[in-house]
Amino acid sequence: MTDLITPELARPEPGDGQPYAYRRAELLEPDWTRLPGWKDVTAEEWRSVQWQRSHCVKNVKQLRDVMGDLLEDRFYDDLTRDQAERATMSMLLPPQMLNTIVPSGAPDYTEAFYADPVRRYMLPVFSDRRADWPSHPHATRDSLHEHEMWATEGLTHRYPTKVLAEILPTCPQYCGHCTRMDLVGNSTPVIDKLKFVAKPQTRLDNMLDYLRRTPGVRDVVVSGGDVANMPWPRLEAFLMSLLEIENIRDIRLATKALMGMPQHWLSSDVLAGVERVASVARNRGVMIAMHTHVNAAQSVTPLVAEASKAMLEAGLRDVRNQGVLMRGVNDSVHQLLDLCFALLDGANITPYYFYMCDMIPFSEHWRVSVRDAQHLQHGILGYLPGFATPRIVCDVPYVGKRWVHQLSEYDEVRGISYWKKNYRTGIEQQDPEALNRTYEYYDPIDTLPAEGQQWWNQHAGTTLAEAEQRAAESRAAAEAQKFLDLT
Ligand code: SF4
Repeated sequence: MTDLITPELARPEPGDGQPYAYRRAELLEPDWTRLPGWKDVTAEEWRSVQWQRSHCVKNVKQLRDVMGDLLEDRFYDDLTRDQAERATMSMLLPPQMLNTIVPSGAPDYTEAFYADPVRRYMLPVFSDRRADWPSHPHATRDSLHEHEMWATEGLTHRYPTKVLAEILPTCPQYCGHCTRMDLVGNSTPVIDKLKFVAKPQTRLDNMLDYLRRTPGVRDVVVSGGDVANMPWPRLEAFLMSLLEIENIRDIRLATKALMGMPQHWLSSDVLAGVERVASVARNRGVMIAMHTHVNAAQSVTPLVAEASKAMLEAGLRDVRNQGVLMRGVNDSVHQLLDLCFALLDGANITPYYFYMCDMIPFSEHWRVSVRDAQHLQHGILGYLPGFATPRIVCDVPYVGKRWVHQLSEYDEVRGISYWKKNYRTGIEQQDPEALNRTYEYYDPIDTLPAEGQQWWNQHAGTTLAEAEQRAAESRAAAEAQKFLDLT
């Protein structure tokens, strides 16, 4: 455990005459014994992945057991209401992550807890959400339409040369804004989760079969969920099978747990396994890297840095970060650059992307407009090395990732941006118009000028149920097309 350093002291003093003044900041592992429920937890227990997994906070009572009277009842009530009426993800917070919220304590703990960026996305409360437009009228559960593009169950083939393999539907931590809220995690009172149908091993075998007979795919993102939740021997077997497929040249392991539960990646059995896989990849000339998901500088602690460096020493080519841009979490140039420098200087993690938060239900309070995202992209250029300057990207439904400056047209009054693409997704092989069409993305309505808000008030004839109905029709059409393609 290192000494406590307040974030204020760790922050650079302004004075370089630059909008952002860089100073190297020391990483902080907050003292978990400040929390009443963990006052007797030893450093050895803290480093144990078994201890971390068995002490995750899964409900309000368990949070109360850890935080005790540090938080006023109004916070617990706010959280309880959100769980019942808004949450699209169930609660699951590893001790490592909970410990980074209000890392140095505060005189008014409840207010500091409310304001904390990690709390704002890992433990959302009812009062965080917008009352006027909690969901955008075009929000849907599977906002990126990944299921429609499944080549086999869980294998999304959206881009020409790469696929996303959702190898399991669970994670060691559940993020309130999760894009895959349709599938990942336990059902909540608001969202009944989709379940995989095929048996786990059959699903993995079907994915491998598809990749063997699809030589145009060279790049596999092995994801979920979070690969840290798959028992290592099964994950290693899957990766070794992937490495035997001649056309696969790039493998990326997606795991937020590198930050949320670094103890997993520091376990000796997992480290030894990563070394074996990396060694085979190196011998076969395949690039294997890890992608993690960190949204706030305070999450980059010495333990996270240790885990990241261990991955590099084990032979992975790179560890990269794909954060999510969210209001109240990291929507300022300072917050983004503080995070990028903590990753790069402190943990050898390359800042790579910031995704705009997707249009899932009840996410409006997190989402930023495309215009604001463009300003942020402009604001962070020039401080980081070019290879580590993250791109802010909009994942446009039926298109895929586009840099935020790549839109074709933008109606800023109604907050509708129009995008084009240069490839067909897996469900458009027979669609002659796919590359000529424009695809829409919507800004949060509360960020629009009065005229735009009024327009939506008059025209938002679409409810969430109607949007779901449209998505279901579109899924059925895609299934029918797949059937026709096969016959
Ligand atoms: S770790 Fe990733 S997949 Fe898991 S809940 Fe968070 S955002 Fe979703």
